[in-house]
Amino acid sequence: MERVVVLEARKASIGDGTEVRRLLPQRALRTAGAWCFLDHYGPDDVSRGAGMQVPPHPHIGLQTVSWLFDGHVLHRDSLGSQQLIRPGELNLMTSGRGVAHSEESPRGRPATLHGLQLWIALPDAERFTEPGFAHHASLPVLHDGDATVTVVVGEYLGERSPAVVYSPLAGFEVAVPEGARFTLTTRPDFEYAVVAADGPATVAGAHIEPGRLAYLAPGLFGVPLTPDESRRDPARFFVLGGKPFTEQLVMWWNFVARTSGEITQARDDWQAGRFAPVRGYPGDPLPAPELPVARLLPR
Ligand code: MN
Repeated sequence: MERVVVLEARKASIGDGTEVRRLLPQRALRTAGAWCFLDHYGPDDVSRGAGMQVPPHPHIGLQTVSWLFDGHVLHRDSLGSQQLIRPGELNLMTSGRGVAHSEESPRGRPATLHGLQLWIALPDAERFTEPGFAHHASLPVLHDGDATVTVVVGEYLGERSPAVVYSPLAGFEVAVPEGARFTLTTRPDFEYAVVAADGPATVAGAHIEPGRLAYLAPGLFGVPLTPDESRRDPARFFVLGGKPFTEQLVMWWNFVARTSGEITQARDDWQAGRFAPVRGYPGDPLPAPELPVARLLPR
C-alpha cells in the first residue's frame, strides 16, 4: 500500500435502521492494528421517536469500544451492566467467549447523537476469556501544542489510558482548532487510520471528510492533522492505531472468530438462547441473519 490511502465508507444500517458510515472492515483494509470494525454515525437528530435503538445481540472474540462526540447512549449487557455513556467517556466491553448487549437512546437525552462504534479483535490467546465490562468516565487529556488529545486506548506522550486491551493499540480523540498546525506524534511500528468527525480535513496531505478513512502504513513518526474551515471549532479527529494484526480473522454479523465452524456455533448458540439474556431492554433481541456459508472462508 501507499503510505497514505483514502478509503470510502459504505452505508449500512444498524438496529432500528440508524444509518451509519461503515469504515472498517473493507476489502482493501481488514484491520488497523487489532481494530477490526468501525462505524461512524451522525450527527443525527434523535429528539423525536425512540432515537437510536440497537436491540440485544451477541458478540464473540472481540472488545467493543463505544465513543461519543455528542449525545447520550444507554448500554445494557448480559453481565447485568447498565451504563449511560456521554462524550469523553469510554464504554469498553470484552466479549471473550460470549456476551450480549443492547444500546439505546435514553429518555431526557440531548437532541444530537454523533459517535463511533468500534471493535477490537482479541488475539487468539485471549479470545475465550471471561466477558467483562468497564466504563471509564475519566481519561487522560493532554494539550500538545494547540491540539487537545484524549487518550481513549493506549498511550500518548507518556499518558496512558486505563482501558485494558490485549494487543499494542492506540485510540485518540484529537481536537484541533481552526488555523492551527498540528502534527500527531506516532510510533513507526504502528499503522494508523484517521476519521475526521466534523468536516473536511487533511491528514498527511490526503483529503478526508466524514465517510472517508485515511490509512497510514507503518514507518511514520508524525502525522499532520489539519482541519479545513469547519463548522465546528475545534475540529475533532479520531485516530486508531496499532501493530499490524497478523492473525487471520473470520468475521460475520457480530462475531469475530478464526473458522466458519466457530461462527456457525455462535449463531446456533444465540438462536437457541444459550447466551445469557440482556435484562431491561424495551424490546425483543435481534435474530441472527441467515448464514451465507460460502462467504465464510478464511482470507
Ligand atoms: Mn454490539
